[in-house]
This record gives sequence, C-alpha cells and structure tokens, in this order.
Amino acid sequence: MAGEPQADCLFCKIVAGDVPATVVRETDTTVAFRDINPQAPSHVLIIPKVHYPDAASLAAAEPVIAADILREAGEVALEEKAESYRVVFNTGSGAGQTVFHAHAHVLGGRGLQWPPG
Ligand code: 5GP
Ligand code: ZN
Repeated sequence: MAGEPQADCLFCKIVAGDVPATVVRETDTTVAFRDINPQAPSHVLIIPKVHYPDAASLAAAEPVIAADILREAGEVALEEKAESYRVVFNTGSGAGQTVFHAHAHVLGGRGLQWPPG
C-alpha cells in the first residue's frame, strides 16, 4: 500500500529506530537527523515517516506532509542558527539521489554558491 514502510529502505529503518541516527527534531509526520556525510557545517535531512520514493510523489499523495517538511526546514534552520540556508530535493540518480525515500537536505553554516555545480 502507498506510504507503507519498505523492508529494504534505509530511511524507513531510521524511522523505525532500527538504524541509529542523530535526530535533531521529530514531529508526528517527520524526522530530522544529521547527514552522515555532511556537505556543510550544518547538514540535516528531513524525511516523512511514510515511504514515498521522492519529494514529488510524496507531495502528490500527501501534500500536507510535504508542507510539514518545508515548515520543518525553517525550524531546523532556526535551531541550527543558519541565517541563510538551502533546501535541496535531489530527484533521480542523475541528480545525485541515492536514497529513494523522500528527503530534504537542509544545508547551512557556510556561504552557498548559486548556481550550484
Ligand atoms: P541523496 O543523495 O539521496 O539526495 O541523499 C542521501 C543522503 O543520505 C546523503 O547525503 C548521505 O550522506 C545520507 N546518508 C546515507 N546513509 C546514511 C545513514 O546511514 N545515516 C545518515 N544519517 N545519513 C545517511
Ligand atoms: Zn522508506
């Protein structure tokens, strides 16, 4: 069924507590935790507790939860004291997506170039 946990999904395992993570915030619908390979002084991932392979499919099926992730991005940036920050949804392997459970990267704590590489 859509949104159900997937046995082979790393981020579903983090939601279940079966894989440890440094959790910085949790809501009824989302978990925010530090990226294991940070690309900035502050690099937090925000995931929905439900499983969808990418942000667009999450937004199509569960628009309220997609909005929860965007709101949480702002809360994470506040807590991390990141005055400026970037929210990234890598979508598809050609764009660098490696974990196919929807997630937002929230990057801050350094200058961020635009356009990105
Ligand atoms: P993507 O490349 O799919 O946009 O982002 C996946 C992110 O998950 C990467 O930045 C990667 O460093 C992070 N990641 C991969 N495995 C783990 C893990 O076991 N724990 C945590 N906290 N982050 C992970
Ligand atoms: Zn998953």
